[in-house]
Amino acid sequence: MAKKIVEMEIESAKMELPDTKTLRLKWPHGYDVEFKTGQFITVYFPDSPKYKRAYSLSSCALDTGHFEVTVKREGKMGTRIVDWAEAGHTMFVIPPVGKFLPVFDPPGKHLLCIAGGSGVTPFRGFAREATRSKLDTDITILYSVRTTNDIIFDEEFRQLEQDNPRFNFYVTCTRLKPDDTWNGRRGRINAEWIKEHIHNPANTIVYACGTNELVEATEHLVLNELKLAKEQMKTEKWG
Ligand SMILES: Cc1cc2nc3c(=O)[nH]c(=O)nc-3n(C[C@H](O)[C@H](O)[C@H](O)COP(=O)(O)OP(=O)(O)OC[C@H]3O[C@@H](n4cnc5c(N)ncnc54)[C@H](O)[C@@H]3O)c2cc1C
Repeated sequence: MAKKIVEMEIESAKMELPDTKTLRLKWPHGYDVEFKTGQFITVYFPDSPKYKRAYSLSSCALDTGHFEVTVKREGKMGTRIVDWAEAGHTMFVIPPVGKFLPVFDPPGKHLLCIAGGSGVTPFRGFAREATRSKLDTDITILYSVRTTNDIIFDEEFRQLEQDNPRFNFYVTCTRLKPDDTWNGRRGRINAEWIKEHIHNPANTIVYACGTNELVEATEHLVLNELKLAKEQMKTEKWG
């Protein structure tokens, strides 16, 4: 198993939204890595090897030959990637690590995935793997965005919902104007909304990914208000 840092070519760079880009990093010939859906890679540009940043895989473990990461224009690395990284450039990649893993085994669990903004990226991997492998796992995403223009992977998640009756994708918008058209939910994620989606508490695992603020608030709701056990909560804090 290769655990070494390798230079990868950016095979494609796709704007998902005006401020969000997916990079597909092509594995070099003979690259052999063991990794899991939900893990993150750490990357840096060849001209600044000391400036490294972590990105969750937005692809899944069934996607081989490349890694995909989806990056928001925020901070130095986020801005450099979104505004400047192009197909044909290269980046160094430290192989995937991390424990923010979907529990697919034993089957029959309900994974309740809570995300804000770009924090939805690892959940694309969860939903892709469960759908392609026809797993007996329920996955629900509760996704908070500012407006309907900020929903990353909207089309793919809607398609996955069609393909997989065990997958559901719900969005709440926090900053719509009263007269904006939107039939979905408005307002922040709260205990009531989370509770609505927990049908069998003992069987549920709650995941929260994104800013420290969102993850800590969710943790508080789930552990203190909904009284789920600590082992039923998995978090990935981005800072
Ligand atoms: C495990 C893990 C996985 C991650 N996965 C992803 C991912 O999939 N996608 C993703 O986009 N990010 C992800 N991140 C965050 C990512 O690693 C970077 O922190 C992010 O891209 C910002 O780049 P930076 O750290 O160079 O920002 P810095 O320049 O070091 O800034 C640090 C923070 O300060 C704030 N900040 C900086 N400049 C501004 C500004 N002008 N306005 C407002 N706030 C500002 C931002 O909150 C920023 O995150 C992940 C982080 C971790 C730890």
